Amino acid sequence: MSHSTIKLLEPIVVNRIAAGEVIIRPSHVVKELIENAMDANSSQIDCVVKEGGIKLIQIKDNGDGIHQNDLIIACKSHTTSKLHELEDLKNMTTYGFRGEALASISHVSHVTLQSKTSDSICAYRAAYNNGQITSKAPHPCAGNKGTVVGVEDLFYNVPLKRKTLRTPREEYEQIVSVMREYAVHHHSISFTCKKLDSNTFDIKTTGKDLKGAILQLYGSFVFTSLLFIPKTTTEACCFETFVTNPSYGDAKSTKLLLFVNHRAVENRAMKKSIEKMYSQYIPQNMHPFVYISIDVPLRNIDVNIHPTKKHVSFLSQDKVIDTISTMIEEELAKWKDDTAKTTVN
Ligand code: ADP
Ligand code: MG
Repeated sequence: MSHSTIKLLEPIVVNRIAAGEVIIRPSHVVKELIENAMDANSSQIDCVVKEGGIKLIQIKDNGDGIHQNDLIIACKSHTTSKLHELEDLKNMTTYGFRGEALASISHVSHVTLQSKTSDSICAYRAAYNNGQITSKAPHPCAGNKGTVVGVEDLFYNVPLKRKTLRTPREEYEQIVSVMREYAVHHHSISFTCKKLDSNTFDIKTTGKDLKGAILQLYGSFVFTSLLFIPKTTTEACCFETFVTNPSYGDAKSTKLLLFVNHRAVENRAMKKSIEKMYSQYIPQNMHPFVYISIDVPLRNIDVNIHPTKKHVSFLSQDKVIDTISTMIEEELAKWKDDTAKTTVN
């Protein structure tokens, strides 16, 4: 008699586990859906959330839309309109290319898509589960050009994952935080975000310039303290940054908005370097607001190291960090000198 205990997992289980590695919190869903909306050339992106995104996340855009036929397979794994050949990977300028986000989300929630392209006379709507369309076919309905994605009952089938979530309030704060960062960087797009049962927007931007967007999203204390380092090109990269001067300090934590080739990323080395440099200028318990946008040649960058694409690696990273920190430090020192001079006079 055989006693084999190793068994092949059902694909549906494998997919659910894999989805849980990309989608850990409601804000990850929001990030993916906003990126899709931006890839589709939207100029308006509206987000509505219920119970911190656990009950509902709805993102509506006015972008290119999804064709009726594409709606049938939109939530299948590895279906994408953005990457066609391996060669294309080197030149990806869209956020997405794996065709994994909608599939992953549909493995851990109930998804609906409603979309209208400009060449269609009406919108089409369909529901999805586990990567498959569950409606018979996308059915026609009224709707404007663009896409509405609804994500309901996140992690309804992964109770363990649900338990690791924070309170709805904290999850909602995280969603707002993610949206704010994108809304600053993509300041020509109008963003709104609100809770389903509320009439007030927690985010509402109106397509301003970068500085105006920072004012709308982070308030006047940050805004009035901003120092600007205009687009600077060095051997390793090209960057632009807004930082708060030493008169500003946030008691909670450093706010680092870091974009590499327009992708919001985390970089611990960069954060450390900036915090260390600021510690010479502001009290220890205070923290700066720092926005940095870096462009590196596509051939120098690898965004493919993790499915969340939250971390990127690029060539001469240390040198880039060093250059940017030094430039910021020069600005802070100059500000300090200028302020000392005006105080003396
Ligand atoms: P990826 O973005 O990596 O291609 P996704 O799973 O996020 O994969 O999306 C799958 C496909 O669905 C996209 O390639 C795109 O064609 C389409 N899509 C998704 N969201 C939108 C949207 N908001 N507007 C237009 N098309 C969309
Ligand atoms: Mg995508």
